[in-house]
Amino acid sequence: MPHSDTVAVHAGEPTLDRKDAPVTPDISVGSASGYPDLKTLDAAMAEHRGYGRWGTDNHRQLEAAVAGLEANGLDTPLDAVSVGSGMAAIAVALMSEMNAGDHVVAAHDCYGTTVTFLRNDLPRFGITSTIVDFQDLEAVRRAVTDRTRVLLGEMCTNPLIRVPDLEALAAIAHDAGALLVVDNTVPTPALSQPLRWGADVVIYSATKNLSGHADVIGGLLVGKPSWIEGARAFAHTFGPTLGPFDAWLTLRGIRTLAVRMARHTSNALALARFLEGHAAVSRVNYPELDTSPFCARARKLLPGGAGALLSFELAGGKAALESMVSRLQLVRLMPSLGNVATTLSHPASTSHRGLDASERARAGISDGLIRCSVGLEYPDDLLADFEQALS
Ligand SMILES: *Cc1c(COP(=O)(O)O)cnc(C)c1O
Repeated sequence: MPHSDTVAVHAGEPTLDRKDAPVTPDISVGSASGYPDLKTLDAAMAEHRGYGRWGTDNHRQLEAAVAGLEANGLDTPLDAVSVGSGMAAIAVALMSEMNAGDHVVAAHDCYGTTVTFLRNDLPRFGITSTIVDFQDLEAVRRAVTDRTRVLLGEMCTNPLIRVPDLEALAAIAHDAGALLVVDNTVPTPALSQPLRWGADVVIYSATKNLSGHADVIGGLLVGKPSWIEGARAFAHTFGPTLGPFDAWLTLRGIRTLAVRMARHTSNALALARFLEGHAAVSRVNYPELDTSPFCARARKLLPGGAGALLSFELAGGKAALESMVSRLQLVRLMPSLGNVATTLSHPASTSHRGLDASERARAGISDGLIRCSVGLEYPDDLLADFEQALS
């Protein structure tokens, strides 16, 4: 099996058995295929082929690529299924795995809409959850019940970029007969492979660094073929199919994932170090900094770097933030992450606006906290822009 960087470049490449075969895949937009006789129609239906909700060649190429990225160096076979958004991936993972009466233990710093789904939507189907701090393993153990089927956490959480102890969480999950499901959206498979540390299922919002150019909404699930078979069957019934063009765009993004993530990471570390040394900055959250409480764990679980996301606080609070944001030339506010350009988001008014001030304080999210998704600019230009905006 070649290295995942090579898989990313070649997965789903068209074969040369057609005259002047293009080197990039065609986009298969047909919502259904045509058949000349009953026998071939029957064979296609038996294999869930030939109807667009079950995916086209573009979906299969993308799924093979992402399964190949995750499988890097592992000897267990993997499969993947694509869906229409990261939230669809979360919904399919939880709803295909659980029955009424079952229970989820989820990290309190999961993506905001994931928490909303656990709190507001799943209880209507009889699925309950306990939300705890995944850095507190005792609290995770206490939260597990005999109906717990899933532990759900994230790598490089947003916006404090915390790194969970995946091996310990996997042990707790497996002792309880539950699955560890990890949302690996932020570091991407180029930097983080949770299955290697005991996770059972990995989830992506393809919307972020995986596609990488802020032009796709999509999601994926990766796991053992037998588990993915169930998730795929549920997705085919539930219906959150990714559009074929979005599958194509995501695979195109994946072609450059390894080099993009290397540059995102080196830029993020350079910016984190610059900010840490700046008098106007009171705190920087980035796991690769020597001063981070997650530094040792990040070196182990994220040896290629901790990804594009960091956050920081200015000593002058929100007023200082306001002035920095309006003076930045290269960097704009965007309520998302993972673009080629550097962007900022203000958690208190975006991802965490649903919490009141005391809940935000408990979660460590002050009004002066800003999250940065570091892009692919030439690093000196980026640092110079922050320097002039902070001066
Ligand atoms: C954005 C995001 C999601 C949701 O993805 P969508 O594609 O917007 O549905 C889930 N988890 C994380 C960590 C995210 O950043």
